[in-house]
Amino acid sequence: MTPSPIWATPFLDDHHRALAARLAEWSIPHVEEEPADFGPPVRTMLRALADEALLDLIIPAAGSTLAVDVRSVCLIREILAYRSGGLADTAFVMQGIGTAPLWLAGGGALAGEYLDRARQGRTIAAFALTEPDAGSDVAAVATTAVRDGDDYVLNGTKTYITNAGIADHYVIVARTGEAEGARGLSAFLVDADTPGLSAETQDFVAAHAGGILRMNDMRVSASRMVGAPGSAFKLAMQTFDIFRVSVGAAALGFARRALDETVERVGSRAMFGKPMAAIEGVQSKIADMTVALEGAGLQVYRAAWSKDAGLGRCTREVSMAKLVATEAAQEVVDTAVQLFGGAGVLRGSIVERLYREIRPMRIYEGASEVQKLVIARDILKPRS
Ligand SMILES: Cc1cc2nc3c(=O)[nH]c(=O)nc-3n(C[C@H](O)[C@H](O)[C@H](O)COP(=O)(O)OP(=O)(O)OC[C@H]3O[C@@H](n4cnc5c(N)ncnc54)[C@H](O)[C@@H]3O)c2cc1C
Repeated sequence: MTPSPIWATPFLDDHHRALAARLAEWSIPHVEEEPADFGPPVRTMLRALADEALLDLIIPAAGSTLAVDVRSVCLIREILAYRSGGLADTAFVMQGIGTAPLWLAGGGALAGEYLDRARQGRTIAAFALTEPDAGSDVAAVATTAVRDGDDYVLNGTKTYITNAGIADHYVIVARTGEAEGARGLSAFLVDADTPGLSAETQDFVAAHAGGILRMNDMRVSASRMVGAPGSAFKLAMQTFDIFRVSVGAAALGFARRALDETVERVGSRAMFGKPMAAIEGVQSKIADMTVALEGAGLQVYRAAWSKDAGLGRCTREVSMAKLVATEAAQEVVDTAVQLFGGAGVLRGSIVERLYREIRPMRIYEGASEVQKLVIARDILKPRS
């Protein structure tokens, strides 16, 4: 793969460039991208990611600062998305998202075992927040967790949960009622084989393991609460603060692959007696794709650098990066499909796959409209 020109900017350090060079050469296992059962290929991918010590970069070890280097996570996602696809990228990032509430809440003995196994690629992690009537409106979570002696009893339904049905453990958010709305939610660490928990697969537009979780009088020990009662919303937002910018990075990877495939295509296909690449209208499209991608790349790595530099939550920078990169990637991939013509809409063609891969990214971890709200609120807030 061609290195991104953004990687040469001061937003990255030499050790990031070394990581990118190593990953560009790494022999990523070939797995079936759209299997009937995602379990086996996701486990194969996780073992390979662990062997390459990449999961160490997304799940901090006990005794460390319990923080991840956001630029490394972004680079890994960009390269996996470019070189492999959605399965590898999702397998990698979900080990982080599915365990982040544990390490953000301070780890502890119980969490430590789960973190170690997930970091070694031996277990699959998942994070279950969204419900049929609580997506963008997180405060509307209706799953209940009612205290009963030393346990909580959970009832409710989660939907669109990545790794539902193949995960070994979930962090599940439920209403414990310490306060109204978002402040009355708590998180629980739940094993997949807990009685009362069942999963049903959903078929997404792109290769994506996921589905519905149902909790029916599911009993969980109070010792499995993650963090303090009522802290789940804060933990979820802290998790998204870390990983949201990396959605933008993965989008860059898919879109850069689409651009490179298109450059090769227009260079080799003749039309009206000359290569497509010699047609001005085609050149204009290639220029638009490049400008959009490099602009988005700057935003992604600026936001990631801001996080790593300890400049605070950087909520606006992160939202801008996620918004701009996913929207730009959608445009770039759409243009790639257009320039491929009929070959671009044949099932199995690379740009057709990228077209499907990129679409959910403008919806999950905050839809584009929600990112705009975050950006506007930050700009409009009173300044001292
Ligand atoms: C592939 C995939 C994987 C996912 N994985 C997970 C997971 O692992 N765990 C998990 O908990 N959730 C997961 N989700 C859920 C995801 O976070 C939600 O889909 C997302 O938050 C949007 O919620 P919703 O689908 O209910 O859409 P809704 O909240 O119903 O929103 C629908 C649309 O309304 C518009 N909209 C929303 N708010 C506003 C606004 N304020 N102003 C204007 N327009 C607005 C947007 O266009 C939005 O797309 C996943 C989703 C997908 C698609």
